Amino acid sequence: MSSIKRILVTGGAGFLGSHLCKRLVEQNHDVICLDNFFTSQKTNVEHLLGKSNFELLRHDITHPIFLEVDEVYNLACPAAPGHYQYNPIKTMKTSVLGAIHVLGLAKRCRAKVLQASTSEVYGDPEIHPQPESYRGSVNPVGPRSCYDEGKRAAETLFADYHRQNRVDTRIVRIFNTYGPRMHPYDGRVVSNFIRQALHGEDITIFGDGSQTRSFCYRDDLVEGIIRMMNGPSDFMGPVNLGNPGEFTIRELAEIVLELTGSKSKIIEKPLPADDPTRRRPEISLAKEKLDWEPKTPLRDGLSKTIQWFQSIRMEDYRAPTPHY
Ligand code: NAD
Ligand code: UDP
Repeated sequence: MSSIKRILVTGGAGFLGSHLCKRLVEQNHDVICLDNFFTSQKTNVEHLLGKSNFELLRHDITHPIFLEVDEVYNLACPAAPGHYQYNPIKTMKTSVLGAIHVLGLAKRCRAKVLQASTSEVYGDPEIHPQPESYRGSVNPVGPRSCYDEGKRAAETLFADYHRQNRVDTRIVRIFNTYGPRMHPYDGRVVSNFIRQALHGEDITIFGDGSQTRSFCYRDDLVEGIIRMMNGPSDFMGPVNLGNPGEFTIRELAEIVLELTGSKSKIIEKPLPADDPTRRRPEISLAKEKLDWEPKTPLRDGLSKTIQWFQSIRMEDYRAPTPHY
């Protein structure tokens, strides 16, 4: 049985953060959830508010924070393309200043600190599937750069605080993840297709739908993040976390139509600039070091996500940005 720890989760009210907070609270840890609510809302953690081992803090991670904790999970950052491109300078500040602030805090408290990095560090990859050793093909001056390069700079800071200051850092590279509590207006492909299918709207495929993604269910992913935080002391990563099942975007649209029984039409819209052509994680490192692999097949995870979308009231959600 592990001991009770004081744990800070930045971005803790978001899609992944709220599920991570729930898991950590259930394990009896003392959890501080920090968020500025840019792409989330308090209702995501409403069910935790009455718990004596949960605390909610409105704070923007681009400003320093002074707390005493044993572990930090750094998830604060808009993750959907429409959200991170809305104010790209702020996105870069969130990644870079946010990393500096949590690393400084971890150094002062001798805390362990985990960075939620992304498959976007591989850009539009020339190597398939993507192993951690692949250094990526990223446009430094395109519309996705604020996110991709921000996350790459954050990885550099994590590696340097580890080398220079011996901070116990961990890096996970998260591939496309979906599940209940995704923001219904985040503009990501799974939330868009489900929302559109359930409301009888056209399903918007960008381009011809031949680009691929690998979709990991939220619970599998959060399990991987927790295993990485508690993994071998000499393993800082980066480690890929994602589901190696690879689907074209058109296949995803067809599965969503089948599972919802919707009569929505599939239509094509222009492909956004720098949209990666294909993406699939190589996860042998996570299997070897963390004994982790995803367990939820796409159809099962989508069915649970669809059920959740059917249970919410859309009027309770405000769109964080006009891009969805
Ligand atoms: P999300 O948008 O639901 O969560 C991000 C949270 O961070 C939100 O609650 C948001 O309000 C908060 N936030 C944003 N800027 C902030 C700031 N300056 N200060 C404080 N809080 C701030 O997205 P998510 O999918 O839960 O992603 C969580 C993390 O995982 C992100 O760092 C993201 O880059 C990473 N990630 C997610 C995926 C995915 O597919 N979901 C893939 C790769 C990486
Ligand atoms: N996409 C789409 N229709 C949508 C939203 C997204 O076809 O309504 C495509 C998008 O162009 C990309 C893929 O789906 O090729 C995944 O997009 P998402 O924004 O979910 O994440 P990304 O992996 O691009 O960051």
